Amino acid sequence: MIDKELVFKAQDESLVVISTGVANTLLSYRQISNSSHESAGVLIGERRDVHIVIKNLSEPSRWDIRSRFKVDRVSKHHQKVVDNAFKNSNGTLQYLGEWHTHPEDVPNPSMTDYTSWHKNLKSELPLILIIAGRTHFWVGKKIQDKIEVLKQI
Ligand SMILES: [Zn+2]
Repeated sequence: MIDKELVFKAQDESLVVISTGVANTLLSYRQISNSSHESAGVLIGERRDVHIVIKNLSEPSRWDIRSRFKVDRVSKHHQKVVDNAFKNSNGTLQYLGEWHTHPEDVPNPSMTDYTSWHKNLKSELPLILIIAGRTHFWVGKKIQDKIEVLKQI
């Protein structure tokens, strides 16, 4: 369990804050055993000027196809979580990016990850990408076609 929010910083000094609740939910999906499956979902939260606060996330549903090394999110479940958060917060909470797990301690994006992010994530605004490994999180920020790795502070 984590009892403090996690803070990551980009080169331009802008911050990405992962709330305690989101961090603990991500930890609960870590691929600790060799049989545990890869999980994925979307990130939800607030943009405050250049800073981003991740307050919520969608969790895997039984409609997702899960395997150990790859996740295809085939359901509309995740979009529905985003829509509900947006509606219930009067537009404050919005889609911020994606998360998934990796069966490694210190995770790094695979070629498939990069290909999929470049192909599927289109946004004028920066998006956040999180990979939950067994002992570390990898956090990236996608700005147009560039992906910057953020440093935890
Ligand atoms: Zn991956």
